[in-house]
Amino acid sequence: MTGPTVQGPIVKGWCPGALRPMMSGDGLVVRVRPFGGRLTGGQLAGIAALSQAHGNGLVDLSNRANVQLRGVREAAHGALVAGLRDLGCVDGDVGAEARRNVMVSPFWEAGDGTQAVYTALVDGLADGPELPRKFGFSVDLSVGNTLALAPADIRVERHADGILVRGEGFTTGALAANAAEAAGLAVTLARWFLGTGHVVDGRGRMAGLWADLTPAARQARLPRAFQAAVAVPARSVRPQPGVVAQGTMVGFAFGQVTADMIAALAPFGAWRITPWRMALLEGAAPALPGLIVRAEDAMLRVVACTGAPGCPQALAPTRDLAAGLAAHVPPGATLHVSGCAKGCAHPGVADYTLVATHNGFAPLRRARAGDMGDGAHSAAELMKTPSLLFGKTHAPFL
Ligand code: SF4
Repeated sequence: MTGPTVQGPIVKGWCPGALRPMMSGDGLVVRVRPFGGRLTGGQLAGIAALSQAHGNGLVDLSNRANVQLRGVREAAHGALVAGLRDLGCVDGDVGAEARRNVMVSPFWEAGDGTQAVYTALVDGLADGPELPRKFGFSVDLSVGNTLALAPADIRVERHADGILVRGEGFTTGALAANAAEAAGLAVTLARWFLGTGHVVDGRGRMAGLWADLTPAARQARLPRAFQAAVAVPARSVRPQPGVVAQGTMVGFAFGQVTADMIAALAPFGAWRITPWRMALLEGAAPALPGLIVRAEDAMLRVVACTGAPGCPQALAPTRDLAAGLAAHVPPGATLHVSGCAKGCAHPGVADYTLVATHNGFAPLRRARAGDMGDGAHSAAELMKTPSLLFGKTHAPFL
């Protein structure tokens, strides 16, 4: 068998919204950014109905804590947006939708300030300047700092001496006394970032700026309010399915949930959407086939992107293969099946990786999808002989 053929993945550089959807292989992707990171039972039931009426009945939970309806027909987009607007799930215009890139911790508690900062920040951003594509905020004043590993450029975090506002990667920050002050500081930091000249072609990330600045330049250029050395909150581990203080963390295979499942769960409570492709159900979870409520569930050991036919860049279907191999993945390990070298579903290193090529799947160990490798197997071969990937008698790995 010849070596894998690498197809250079296309980097789009922007994220879809509800008002500005993105075309994919199975139709439009319409991304809904829940206000306050929460969808009520009524909104969930409505989204399920809209997905069935205008989409393909599949809804993704994104790693930016959004829900995205898949397979939406172009002609149905207007009716879908009207339905979402009736549910209170969309912004007034495209600009407002893009600016409201604010993630909140699903573990917030009433009175901990998370929702108050969110509201003040969204208000503060409403008339703000256009920010770089993908530039976002995280707000987490709950105990545990669980959003620390989720993508964000400006973070509002719990601190022993107040509310900490800092740029991603920064070891200095500003302390605020209340929600309004914290939101104001976050907007100030965003405006400062825009003035640094670090935005090129509508792109720019805070962590990149921090890395580019020398210590002297940081001191010279950063607004004085953000120059206090702070103990950056410790990064926590990824939450798992199961009962938590706020309800039940529930997962779905590949972070994708059917409209039927959403409708079935809607009467059991609101969802807080997480960046871990799970939902925090504000209540007890019913026993439903396909609903993941245990951390030991083998389906949590596999990650797979949309693959073919949903993604136009995919060189093969991914999810049936990943599901078929899930039981063979050792506990504690992760298998990443990627439809191309872009590795959307798991940008980091995975214990086991299968990357689709024109010649079959290239197997890798302790690698990223973009690392590629020698040797390729068909999905049927891998399903029949999982030891090609997991065993000792496999083709050479990186
Ligand atoms: S990794 Fe998967 S979802 Fe991403 S571009 Fe490639 S095939 Fe598409």
